[in-house]
Amino acid sequence: MTAKIEDYYAPETFAKIKAFADQHETPFLVVDTSIIAGAYDELVGAFPRAKVYYAVKANPAVEVINLLKDKGANFDIASIYELDRVLSCGVSPERISYGNTIKKAKDIRYFYERGVRLFATDSEADLRNIAKAAPGSKVYARVLTEGTHTADWPLSRKFGCSNDMALDLMILARDLGLEPYGISFHVGSQQRDIGAWDAALAKVKSIFDRLKDEDGITLKMINMGGGFPGNYIMRTNELRTYATEIQRFLEEDFGDDLPEIILEPGRSMVANAGVLVSEVVLISRKAKHSLHRWVYIDVGKFSGLIETMDEALKYPIYTDKKGELEEVVIAGPTCDSADILYEDYKYALPLNLAIGDRLYWFTTGAYTTSYSAVEFNGFPPLMAYYI
Ligand SMILES: *Cc1c(COP(=O)(O)O)cnc(C)c1O
Repeated sequence: MTAKIEDYYAPETFAKIKAFADQHETPFLVVDTSIIAGAYDELVGAFPRAKVYYAVKANPAVEVINLLKDKGANFDIASIYELDRVLSCGVSPERISYGNTIKKAKDIRYFYERGVRLFATDSEADLRNIAKAAPGSKVYARVLTEGTHTADWPLSRKFGCSNDMALDLMILARDLGLEPYGISFHVGSQQRDIGAWDAALAKVKSIFDRLKDEDGITLKMINMGGGFPGNYIMRTNELRTYATEIQRFLEEDFGDDLPEIILEPGRSMVANAGVLVSEVVLISRKAKHSLHRWVYIDVGKFSGLIETMDEALKYPIYTDKKGELEEVVIAGPTCDSADILYEDYKYALPLNLAIGDRLYWFTTGAYTTSYSAVEFNGFPPLMAYYI
């Protein structure tokens, strides 16, 4: 099957994107920034009590940063390079959180000197670095989450610590002169099971209670991370269903005593806004009677589509060609055999698809440009236009 435009875009929106695309050489990404503005408004409307920190890594284009800055967003930053870019867009440091738990002491200092006072941590060594390099700052501990198998792009294992460790870190933070501020988690990106937030919030609640009762520390903030959905082939609930359910979990656990709530959306802010336009380079069969044709296109794992790794994310693919469909293998243009996009999961594309035809990859506004290699095989990084 190929994607139906109306399942993903308003017809006039796609017509606008396509008219722009028709004037440019492939491959490239077109991002309709009005869709990002809509996604931000929808999130803020659905979570009226939350502060939104956009996870810049999803799409760090200045066009995106400026749009979200003007709308009042805050920013979740992972490196000094992202920090420089966001500050150069005129975002003030009070609107920035250093959310990466893996950081050099000198980078913590760099953030501190530029006015950032909110830091994530998940280890004692990092916390001690924060106490030295960013004295008096607010710190929040990131806990591990379970249930990440229902996330299409899990962020498990590498980040977060156990509940007990988070508790110890908050006590140590106080003792080191920092402000123990809250707890964060990330349920995994493109999380299709809303129950993952329920389990995570129950953990957070127990940490809040134990710190208050046993150590006299009152935490003030819960950072619920990202994980909110984009529109890929594997469908999800609507954002408003996520919002209703998650706010119900919060009320069940915290009642009227709700702490400050932070959300860190990346994917859900920008994914739906992007259409990646590619061209068919070659179509072949490996043997005369092979059942599957191979369709090679001019974009691949190294030029923006790394989230096809293990076929994790399945992008809706659209073509103008109509007619009888046949299952194909889709691969990128580079000389690396890892550059096969979909082989197990079979997309069916029209039999009359020909060399030179365009394939439109929907929902590619997140984690594409920022993941693109700079010159593997000499291919330039993914070009992007913001309209
Ligand atoms: C990547 C990341 C996010 C964004 O997650 P999405 O699932 O893309 O919304 C949020 N918070 C942190 C700490 C992250 O590393």
